[in-house]
Amino acid sequence: MQDILIKNGKVLVFDNDDVTIVNKDILVKNGKIEKIENKIDENLYQNVHLINAENNIVMPGLINTHSHIAMSIFRVSTEDVSLYKWLHEIIWPAEDKLTKEDIYNASMLSFIEAISTGTTCINDQYFMPEQTRKAATELKIRAVLTRPLMDLDGDIEERIEEFKNFYQTRDKENDLITYTVSPHGLYTCSGECLKKSAELAKEYNLPVHVHFLESIDEIEDIKKLHGMSGVEVLKKYFSDVHLILAHGVKLSDEDINVLKQMDLRNCT
Ligand SMILES: [Zn+2]
Repeated sequence: MQDILIKNGKVLVFDNDDVTIVNKDILVKNGKIEKIENKIDENLYQNVHLINAENNIVMPGLINTHSHIAMSIFRVSTEDVSLYKWLHEIIWPAEDKLTKEDIYNASMLSFIEAISTGTTCINDQYFMPEQTRKAATELKIRAVLTRPLMDLDGDIEERIEEFKNFYQTRDKENDLITYTVSPHGLYTCSGECLKKSAELAKEYNLPVHVHFLESIDEIEDIKKLHGMSGVEVLKKYFSDVHLILAHGVKLSDEDINVLKQMDLRNCT
């Protein structure tokens, strides 16, 4: 791995709640930051990759904690509809027509867009994930990938097999790509699907990444399907796994209290 010297950048310095921007040089050796100083002389280092960051901010890469990266090709295709209408009438029928090549190209396009705006890690959840993995591997972006699980519209065993096959065919040498077990949502997964997701997460020691309370309709649908509230479903199935909840925009104060009682070290 070549050492990197970033010269003349504007570095963000965090001090409690204050952020200041200062001109600094940064030396990266063996993939780790070794020095941040006012001036570092490039002549002292051989074979260093020199980057002139004049007029640029130098900061840690941004992390996108929830995406369906290939879906960005649907951006602005529809606006001003409810989540359920958007999913059932527009997006899912359109996704049925996507080919492997579409997903590879869409993933490429979206990853390049992410990198160009400073996002270096993406936690994704999408079908045909081999295509997204291929694009992420080629671009060397950090990605957290999965084959989402749901069973209200199909066979859970078949999807679990797809997940296992996806996970087991990973490149163990590539530590830029890691994995989650990802039941789609509490309103699209039966209790059996959630139970099997938790079992898989424990078997492979992976986090669980799930949509949670992203729309008002979901609150009632979860109650109808599981006979309990969303946070009670989380407690029942996922109290002993690392949990990544996507959205969570319709949490009540009571929900927040229940989540507080769960082990927050295990919740993102
Ligand atoms: Zn989502």
